[in-house]
Amino acid sequence: MGKNMMAYEFGENILLVDAGLMFPENDMLGIDYIIPDISYLIQRRKQVKGIIITHGHEDHTGAIRHVLEELQAPIYATPLTRGLLEVKLARNGVLQKVHIETVKAGESRKIGPFNVDFFHVCHSIPDGVGLGIDCPAGLVVHTGDYKFDHTPVDNWPTDYAKLAEFQRRGVMALLADSTNSERKGWTPSERVIDDAFDKVFRDAPGRILIATFASLISRMQQVGNAALKHNRKMAFAGVSMVDNAKIARELGYLKLPDNLIVSLDEALHMKDRDVVIMCTGSQGEPTSILGRLSRGSHRIFDVKSGDTIVLSSHPIPGNEESVYGTINRLMERGANVIYEAIAPVHVSGHASQEEMKLLMHLTQPKFFIPIHGELRQLKQHAQLAKEIGIPAENTAVILNGQSVEFNNGRMRLADKVPASYVYVDGSGVGDVSDAVMHDRELLSEEGLMIVNLTMDKNTDRPKKDPEFITRGFIAQQGGSELMNGLKNRVMSSAEKANGHLQKDVEQAVSNYLYRETRRKPMVLVNIIKN
Ligand SMILES: [Zn+2]
Ligand SMILES: [Zn+2]
Repeated sequence: MGKNMMAYEFGENILLVDAGLMFPENDMLGIDYIIPDISYLIQRRKQVKGIIITHGHEDHTGAIRHVLEELQAPIYATPLTRGLLEVKLARNGVLQKVHIETVKAGESRKIGPFNVDFFHVCHSIPDGVGLGIDCPAGLVVHTGDYKFDHTPVDNWPTDYAKLAEFQRRGVMALLADSTNSERKGWTPSERVIDDAFDKVFRDAPGRILIATFASLISRMQQVGNAALKHNRKMAFAGVSMVDNAKIARELGYLKLPDNLIVSLDEALHMKDRDVVIMCTGSQGEPTSILGRLSRGSHRIFDVKSGDTIVLSSHPIPGNEESVYGTINRLMERGANVIYEAIAPVHVSGHASQEEMKLLMHLTQPKFFIPIHGELRQLKQHAQLAKEIGIPAENTAVILNGQSVEFNNGRMRLADKVPASYVYVDGSGVGDVSDAVMHDRELLSEEGLMIVNLTMDKNTDRPKKDPEFITRGFIAQQGGSELMNGLKNRVMSSAEKANGHLQKDVEQAVSNYLYRETRRKPMVLVNIIKN
């Protein structure tokens, strides 16, 4: 789930689809995000003919800057996706170096040996596309993220006719979004949110704050519609939200009249019941606006009683704790908080089981490969394919890095390519190794013990009792049995050590602590020669 990237290869030509990031799980300490391992592509730089970005969500665009540092291939994207990419690339100062070609849904492009049809799909962001990728080996349909919404916010349904046309041409393989494969039925239309927002706007006595992803442009439109109806002005808070709304309005994907929009500063000086503010932080991110508001640490404003705060998104798996923590803190500050579990203020942008089956019927693929999802979701998606009559041997449930080869009407699993996590934290890409991650885990779970050991520079023997400093391990109790035992252990190992004083003492301390406490704090021995 996340860091989406697919490489289609024919002969010596590679077509990339998406370059996304993945948000870290709770136990990945200090990591900002994770990007795909592209070492396979770096070795074949010259072969990469193009990069198609299916839509503007971070899990499909978030690694683009890192990918472009290694590969100079043109990007293909629809107008809105392009606009959002440009905002992102400009922020990182790399926009000038990139060639982006705009493709509208319904158009096709020849990229190397690939003839690509871009077809419109509904999702929680406008201007998303799926792809029909044709080459001499056969036609592949790649859905990207999609749902079959008959009443989408922008009145632009998925291009069913194109899917049927693919069927007539003969689909060799279908690769489809598996995110919601465990959900029965049909994903509700985005329209159901309108009613929920209508109620929120009708009932709210004071300010309304609506938190969602900065790229959920459709949600901005819905909030704008409700604001118009209920006579509130609308403000955007946060750089990415402001930038994305601006570009989406310029390109005509977000239709909000000028007199509806006010700046955050203006909004904060208006009567509470005259404003709605959209901000980021629906995933409980501590540095987001909502995260700061929940802790009372935002520079400009505070949550107050009478505020109505809506979290219009679904917690990404792994984020639940921080989302619910944020909700609790906002409530403590007196806000009325409305979230997915108590009102339909969010619907999924991904197809459920009945839509998945319809997609298979529309395209009638010979082979099926579930994509976008964890293994359990891929398996469930494969099960649906079986139910509608695609033979199990024609379905491939594959893990990241597993390549699949199509040859003479047959499918087989081919080589595995590197597909591990590449961690990005504040300091850079890939310099957070597994060893660093292991240290961070150790520190967070077991704590730290520092031993200051003073050695006599003339005799090379301990000069005085060692000092211990601990963090997150145990409170220091100078006279306790444990600390006395530890002191003796340090002294004796220092006496005996020859050549590897620091390592030997560290080992002795670790062993002793583990034996006595069953804990393994990180141990650092600091030798002072005196
Ligand atoms: Zn998406
Ligand atoms: Zn996605």
